Amino acid sequence: MPAVLPDEVLIRVNCCGICGSDLKIVSGIMGCLDNIVLGHEFSGVITSTGNKARRFKIGDMVVADPTLTCGNCEFCLDGKQNLCKNLGTGGNGELGVNINGAFAAFVKIRESNVYKLSDNISFEEATLVEPLACILNGFNRLNIKKNQTACIIGLGPTGLIWAELFRLRGIKVFGVEKSEFRCAFAQKFGITICQGDESNGFNFVIDSSGQAFELGVRLVKPAGKLVLFGMSPGHVEKIEPFLIAQKNVDILGVNMDSGTFKQAIKLLPRIRGKDIITHKFGLKDYREAFEVLGYDFASRRFARESTAVKVVICP
Ligand SMILES: [Zn+2]
Ligand SMILES: [Zn+2]
Repeated sequence: MPAVLPDEVLIRVNCCGICGSDLKIVSGIMGCLDNIVLGHEFSGVITSTGNKARRFKIGDMVVADPTLTCGNCEFCLDGKQNLCKNLGTGGNGELGVNINGAFAAFVKIRESNVYKLSDNISFEEATLVEPLACILNGFNRLNIKKNQTACIIGLGPTGLIWAELFRLRGIKVFGVEKSEFRCAFAQKFGITICQGDESNGFNFVIDSSGQAFELGVRLVKPAGKLVLFGMSPGHVEKIEPFLIAQKNVDILGVNMDSGTFKQAIKLLPRIRGKDIITHKFGLKDYREAFEVLGYDFASRRFARESTAVKVVICP
């Protein structure tokens, strides 16, 4: 049971989504502190509050921004908290990376990172607030106009959320994805699978895989925007920079949320979150939860084809 500091609250975790970054951590591609509890996309109920934490009462249904920032560095003061210079020091950092996260019965966190939910939203769907907030950090920078098109490379949970946001703005969405299962699944969201052969190009191309920079540059229209969103540390691609200059492409790098939690909570009921979540497991079945995503515990690799999209663990 974590002991809460005066400015913290204790949350009984109802549900926590498995993120692509958790998969990168368990397969050794991304780092985390030794013996840390993973999990950062969670919802739950306040069960106790520190003596200086007064914004919530016991029983409140909440989500929390898992990134604890200093609030004082040049980036924090500029509203770009995700770029905080002091992550990893002075109690700042990320839940599930260097602070114990929410694949657990209870998690504690600074009160200022916690947001109340309305009760018309389920705990399962509420786990999508965090990924949605990260996507909004990029989506808000797009300057969308009528009759534009978007193409999403990688149709996992985040790719589908990107597609939902474009749909809400009346933008036709195309998709590129290797897995046949995910292609069929994405069509239920109105995404037209094009496998990268659309000759006219797209105004917006989102690389949600983290491994398709070169393809993205090819697919984006002149004067279009290419968003690099998927995280794939160590992945290297060869590219001819001239193509980017010649097409006047804007390249946007996006990771983590940045003051977008409130907007995400407001938008969540408008996206088809329930349909993105395909599997639910109890905490003691965590092995199965990772295995259903294709993970092999013995080799620490993603060895199998998966027919899961978003998997959530519900302690
Ligand atoms: Zn995440
Ligand atoms: Zn900072």
